[in-house]
Amino acid sequence: MPRRTGPRYPSGVPRGQQLCYSDAYARAVEARILAVETEPSPAVVLDSTVFYPGGGGQPPDTGTITRMADGATWPVRSARKVDGEIAHELEPTAALAAVGDIVTAEIDWPRRHLLMRTHTALHVLCGVVWRDYGAQVTGGNMEPGSGRMDFEFERMSGELVGEIEAKVNAELAAGRDVRVAVLPRDAAFAIPDLIRTKINLLPPGIAEVRTVEIAGLDLQADGGTHVANTREVGSIRVTGYESKGRINKRIRIELTGGGASSA
Ligand SMILES: [Zn+2]
Repeated sequence: MPRRTGPRYPSGVPRGQQLCYSDAYARAVEARILAVETEPSPAVVLDSTVFYPGGGGQPPDTGTITRMADGATWPVRSARKVDGEIAHELEPTAALAAVGDIVTAEIDWPRRHLLMRTHTALHVLCGVVWRDYGAQVTGGNMEPGSGRMDFEFERMSGELVGEIEAKVNAELAAGRDVRVAVLPRDAAFAIPDLIRTKINLLPPGIAEVRTVEIAGLDLQADGGTHVANTREVGSIRVTGYESKGRINKRIRIELTGGGASSA
């Protein structure tokens, strides 16, 4: 059985459209199957997709691929980026889609939207902790509705939890716009705010840097999907903090209230 049917993108040719990076609110798209993989597990590559392949602490999307011709549907259990392509991992079934099939690719929108709200909440947390306590973020991770961030934050203590929570909720309620931009590498590296979020760890060959700005609060190099305005997040609760050493502290949050939809 062939491991893969369909061509790789020749180098220098634009990749299939990856809409998650330009339009976080795109839930479904019509697409053509460019390649089918059978090993190690079934997966397809599309000429256009709305699936986020994971990265920056945000898990990949789940959803479905439905063939237009006969309505056959394959659950997509995950997605991943390989050599610049987004591979959609399918549940193993007897019949696989074929190269050239026209399909609708649709994400599990309630799950994705919750991840967008969670991701934006974590950036607001980063922005508040940097602005008011001067602590740099060193990492983070999230599930739909909850997440954690690690900071170089020696002063963090139990007494600060309530204060940080109130400040984050005030910023969410302030209705700050969330803006995505793609900057040439040199322009991105000239922005002081980006340096603190470890932009210098980006691969040296990278030509462009995607940034996510929470207007007036936070600016980071980031590949994830976000809501358009902080009001859409709703509110959060700090559920705990842990010392990961004298300096490194981990703060956990969860979403507690639904936000206003801007979709
Ligand atoms: Zn992020």
